[in-house]
Amino acid sequence: MTSSKIFLQRLFKAYYQEKKSELPTINSLQQREFGFIPWEKPMMIRHVGFESEEELKNFLIEKSPRHVYASGSLYNYPENQDMNQKEYKGCDFLIDIDVDHFYTPCKENHDLWYCKSCGAKGKGMVNTCKKCGSPKLSTLTWICKRCLNEAKKEVFKVINHFLVPDFGIEESRIKCAFSGHRGYHVKLEDEKLRMLSSEKRREIVDYLTGENLTLELLGLNEKGGVIYGLSKSNIGWSRKILQFIEDLLNKSPSEIKAFLTDKRKVGFSANIADAFMRNGNHLLSVIYKDETNIWNIEHMTMSRWKKFLEAVVKEISVEIDQPVSIDIHRLIRYPGSLHGKTGFKVSELSHEQLEDFDPLNENDETLDPIVFESDNLQKLKITVPKVPIITMKNETYGPYTKDAIIEVPNHVAVFFLSKEVAITI
Ligand SMILES: [Zn+2]
Ligand SMILES: [Zn+2]
Repeated sequence: MTSSKIFLQRLFKAYYQEKKSELPTINSLQQREFGFIPWEKPMMIRHVGFESEEELKNFLIEKSPRHVYASGSLYNYPENQDMNQKEYKGCDFLIDIDVDHFYTPCKENHDLWYCKSCGAKGKGMVNTCKKCGSPKLSTLTWICKRCLNEAKKEVFKVINHFLVPDFGIEESRIKCAFSGHRGYHVKLEDEKLRMLSSEKRREIVDYLTGENLTLELLGLNEKGGVIYGLSKSNIGWSRKILQFIEDLLNKSPSEIKAFLTDKRKVGFSANIADAFMRNGNHLLSVIYKDETNIWNIEHMTMSRWKKFLEAVVKEISVEIDQPVSIDIHRLIRYPGSLHGKTGFKVSELSHEQLEDFDPLNENDETLDPIVFESDNLQKLKITVPKVPIITMKNETYGPYTKDAIIEVPNHVAVFFLSKEVAITI
């Protein structure tokens, strides 16, 4: 094992030792399957069960793995290698929100890619090489305050716009956690939800993401040149969309226009956007007063209405990593454990704590994911072509280029080493 990994594993061990009494637990621990990724090789070791919290904690101190996971599912025999013989007892409903899976503008500054086929390189979120189209890319994904905030906004969206109003779930029963890297987990340990099949979970996911939503079913229709708008009696998606339109039209003209003309949003021309805005008050009065619900507005053809409403649906819907919610055999990071790609703690958060939570500069020590904060300097050598800027604890580090020798505080060194962009020297 490299000296960098030995260094990190030693720190992880010290953390699990020191925090032994404070590490959070999960309910029904004996019925969960655990999984680990060791430092030696990137291979998941699954089907591990523990009799007690004490046994788990001792294991963490002894092995100090790079990554620690537990199942959302409960089993009579979690340690059984054969999935069919574990005796499945139900699964928590899990939602994973991770900026890996959606666009944020800051990625244009801090996510890097390099094409293994043609050698082209660039910034931003791409799946294939922009020059030759090859999917063989090596990428460096990074974090900043902005994308972590975007992820947090999605968490609030799913809780406040869906779980609480549409599914009637009490806020106090919703558990959140910072994932230790680029996102958050939301966990529902509700007895009824535990029994949902994968198909039912898929339906919930479709609802949250607005996928397969048919605007016609919500009431949008054209008959003889007359466009009828969304039904006001539908309490689910229709109401959310109408509310969004009202909120939008109450914004400043520049904000409305930005939404209407942004190519990643509605993408109207300036002329169409202006016509829509001229009729804003009329539209509001139709939505809220007019029984006929006729949405005929100059220049707004049916296809433009669809374009507009699809953009609205995209704004309302939640960006979630779908398989995590559907697959009942998934493992997710154990709360309080350390994320081996950052060295950050997986911090459990209440809905209220989430409000002010700032992963890269958190003042509440019990929530702070940066557990190795120290002024002690570590000497490192950069091993990748470019390391983007990172701001941690109000101090900015980088950017750095390959072979640079740097001296950074311990917690920053842990992050770079975990990210594998530098080595100890
Ligand atoms: Zn290429
Ligand atoms: Zn960012």
